Amino acid sequence: MPDTANYDIVIIGAGPAGLTAGLYAGRGGLRAAVVEKLAPGGLVANTERIDNYPGFPDGISGLDLAQRMQAQAVKFGAHILSDEAVSIAVGQKGFSVFLASETSLNAKAVIVAAGAMPRALGVPGEKELLGKGVSYCAVCDGAFFKGQDVAVVGGGDSAVQEAIYLAGLASKVTVVHRRDALRAADSLQKIAFANKKIEFLWSRAVLAIEGRDAVSGLRLQDKATLAESVLPVSGVFIYVGNQPSTGFLSGLLKTDELGYIITDCDLMTSVPGVFACGDVRKKLVRQISSAVGDAAIAATAAQRYLEAL
Ligand code: NAP
Repeated sequence: MPDTANYDIVIIGAGPAGLTAGLYAGRGGLRAAVVEKLAPGGLVANTERIDNYPGFPDGISGLDLAQRMQAQAVKFGAHILSDEAVSIAVGQKGFSVFLASETSLNAKAVIVAAGAMPRALGVPGEKELLGKGVSYCAVCDGAFFKGQDVAVVGGGDSAVQEAIYLAGLASKVTVVHRRDALRAADSLQKIAFANKKIEFLWSRAVLAIEGRDAVSGLRLQDKATLAESVLPVSGVFIYVGNQPSTGFLSGLLKTDELGYIITDCDLMTSVPGVFACGDVRKKLVRQISSAVGDAAIAATAAQRYLEAL
């Protein structure tokens, strides 16, 4: 017989969106649980420095910001549970959120704030050399490559931000991008272009990650000439975007073709009583500031929904 616990709201995910939803729900006097399978903070906790979150003109480390958000949510009564939501069942009186620990939580409303996980590049050698030079987290693994040459794959905010971080550790960082222009914010581009330890290889496709027991290089193809070359590196950090963490929903909620949850303007999903906020939601901007804004709306709308029951 599984254990159950009753909540007004169960929030799935304890990144900036989930923790903010927990804070708002707690301050609204609701009994709220925030379920997180990894450490609270989500992808933000793996970010060395955040310069675009208002209130911190000198920047703040991602871990520090995540810990502050967690402390604030807990202070106002949110219960942070270390567990993984594996499915949601819709019942007559609300929802049951089933957990990997084989327990379940009952709630009258659910907020999905499960975020997104790094997307794989999908090339030979990537899986085989994971942890042997292939990484999706510069803050976690960068220190292993002190004084060595590394590559970063991607051209978005994450790739450029983490290339700047890695330049403080590695002897050289080569950013390999599939186009001839970066997608990253101008402010990040300027810092990266001014850093003598960062080089760019434009319009290159990664064909394979090479190495037997550890990464030895990247096999690249020039997209214009189709010429192949090998970039010798001992580490490769992959930042080619994210994919929403929606697998556990098993099609319960309407999503777009990429799996991002579709919401209305109050962040209600296709299932009444289930809301979504943060990176897991279909939207244009995925930043910490937009995640916390989303969460404030979702938690407030969820409270109104509960009041109307
Ligand atoms: P992203 O913005 O989706 O960028 C992914 C990058 O990878 C793009 O440059 C893309 O190339 C490239 N790419 C995608 N698939 C590829 C493939 N198969 N092979 C090679 N390259 C590939 O992802 P992100 O940088 O992880 O950012 C995710 C979200 O978080 C964004 O909304 C971003 O703004 C936000 N974010 C913000 C900050 C910040 O504000 N400081 C920091 C990190 C992340 P194309 O450019 O050709 O599409």
